[in-house]
Amino acid sequence: IFITFEGGEGAGKTTHIRFLSEALKARGREVVRLREPGGTDIGERLRGVLLDPRNTALSDEAELLLYEAARAQIVAEVVKPALERGAVVLCDRFTDSTVAYQGYGRGLSRAFIDEANAFACQGVAPDRTILLVAGGDARTGLARATHRGADRLERAGEEFHAQVNDAFLEIARACPERVRVVESDRRKSRTAAAVFAELSDLFPW
Ligand code: C5P
Ligand code: MG
Repeated sequence: IFITFEGGEGAGKTTHIRFLSEALKARGREVVRLREPGGTDIGERLRGVLLDPRNTALSDEAELLLYEAARAQIVAEVVKPALERGAVVLCDRFTDSTVAYQGYGRGLSRAFIDEANAFACQGVAPDRTILLVAGGDARTGLARATHRGADRLERAGEEFHAQVNDAFLEIARACPERVRVVESDRRKSRTAAAVFAELSDLFPW
């Protein structure tokens, strides 16, 4: 089973992936927890290039292809083999992030992004996606995400991030069966319960 977590900055994806991972492990499932970009040696090096605030010269097109390169690597090296042996794979960001950030945010071709995603994924697709939506505006989320210092994308400005947040909601509206919107509450146990509820058909607890 392949589950992805999506959302704008500071929505709590990392926290809720950890909760879910622990719950699944407690029930005896093998869990593989990943983040994008990254999750492999090569992917983590690409992540370094993508997030380094010094790389101001990186073009939008190059940025897109580097995300797809990292994705192709993680799918081939980790996700596919894990799914084949029956593990649950939890991934912090996946193809929807590229649609939201590089498609809506950067304004790159949606048709090309869909094709590049399909090419990188080799038929692998999330069974379910949890879209975590933080309260407040893009500025509040950014502030939560960047208290340890902002990466290259987080410096893109509030308007960019507001656009990305809207894009995620539009993606959810277009794929309501796969993408479930969960409001990320400050009360983490409530949010975690809402996440579990959206997965109850996949994990009959
Ligand atoms: O930890 P976090 O998920 O925030 O780190 C990944 C960063 O990469 C995000 O801040 C996001 O701005 C950026 N990103 C992106 N396009 C993607 C995936 C991530 O711009 N497709
Ligand atoms: Mg971030």
